[in-house]
Amino acid sequence: MMTLKENVQRVSSQVAQACQAASRSETSVKIIAVTKYVDSSITKKLIDAGMTDLGENRVDKFLEKKAELINEKVTWHFIGSLQRRKVKDVINEIDYFHALDSISLATEIEKRALKPVKCFLQVNISREGSKHGFLVEELAEVLPQLAKLEKITIVGLMTMAPFEAEKETIQTIFEETETLRKTIQSQAWPNMPMTELSMGMSQDYPLAIAAGATYVRIGTAFFK
Ligand SMILES: *Cc1c(COP(=O)(O)O)cnc(C)c1O
Repeated sequence: MMTLKENVQRVSSQVAQACQAASRSETSVKIIAVTKYVDSSITKKLIDAGMTDLGENRVDKFLEKKAELINEKVTWHFIGSLQRRKVKDVINEIDYFHALDSISLATEIEKRALKPVKCFLQVNISREGSKHGFLVEELAEVLPQLAKLEKITIVGLMTMAPFEAEKETIQTIFEETETLRKTIQSQAWPNMPMTELSMGMSQDYPLAIAAGATYVRIGTAFFK
């Protein structure tokens, strides 16, 4: 069992190594420490160890934690799927939303947000039925609808690789996501800067960084 601080150092240096291997600057990848497994006091230790960006996936636990850590300077990422009826509770409390996966959810955000929300479009590149996210072929219809919304800024794409897959399969999924990001970026929708790519978890973040991830969402690796 390593200390939390040692784990932060290990993950940070592995992220730096993956950047170097991909000839990318270390500042081009941000670590989101996923704190859904731990309470506020352990989350506070992660902040003290240098983590600035935190990820949560449950509305109630997120709100509780944010309140308990009110004096900390944190960039909050909501990374889980969000039910429409909970949008109003959470959407003005976060800095980034990583799981925009339907037009009805986007419409609800449009209604409830006080200012534009930085969102990642979640895409289901692996095509697993269990996964959330838009299929690539749905986007031609979806993007023009999202482009009409004033409270939605699409900063990039988010995807999840299958839990059990060959390295090559995961690599291909991440590379396809980066290609799709560039394609949408080149379409130059006014509310879609599309500069970011949220992909890579404890199991696969070096592969995600190699393929162009700008945000990696890491939980388990900090807590073992
Ligand atoms: C839990 C979670 C993570 C972190 O996964 P680990 O395998 O613990 O690193 C990343 N992204 C999402 C959407 C999650 O729900």
